Amino acid sequence: MGIPAAEHIGLVSAFIDEVKKRPRPAADGLPRIFLWGNEIDDIAFVSLVEECGAHVVMDDLCTGSRFFWQDVSETGDPLEALARRYLCTHCPRSLKPQAGNRKEDLENRFGYIREFADGWKAAGAIFYIVRYCDTCELEGPDLKEYLTDLKLPVLMIEDDYSTSTIGQLRTRIQAFLEMIM
Ligand code: SF4
Repeated sequence: MGIPAAEHIGLVSAFIDEVKKRPRPAADGLPRIFLWGNEIDDIAFVSLVEECGAHVVMDDLCTGSRFFWQDVSETGDPLEALARRYLCTHCPRSLKPQAGNRKEDLENRFGYIREFADGWKAAGAIFYIVRYCDTCELEGPDLKEYLTDLKLPVLMIEDDYSTSTIGQLRTRIQAFLEMIM
């Protein structure tokens, strides 16, 4: 998000080459976690979840897949395609017209998260909501309802996002992981 595209592509290509050379990890039976939230621009929280005994396998974060996952449409007017891509990210402040009844509306808003959770075989979801992004704080309970209906356990954390106090969340995360094991 913060460096020129060409430089970024070079770094990502080198990273992919390096990952392909790594030995394939043995299955360790640790739970696979889907992470949902907002501006998490430090790996401290992801590290904490993994130190507690889990693998973070996929995310829907402003600073993660939300930023790059969807492509810009290559048909039609390029300017409109770019505008649509920027305005229709999965940030909850983006407009998503209501569709049908409550159940249908939740599917319309969160169906892509079901696909993430299924595709990455997540055993549970952790929401890490940094306070004062009101849209994310309002979206969390609806998403929790949707995923709970799909039988995916959810731990919802709201925090001030101070990396110096993040360790205080350890006990809650450990208890959640024990519950889903
Ligand atoms: S409004 Fe909230 S969810 Fe949307 S981009 Fe900003 S921090 Fe992320």
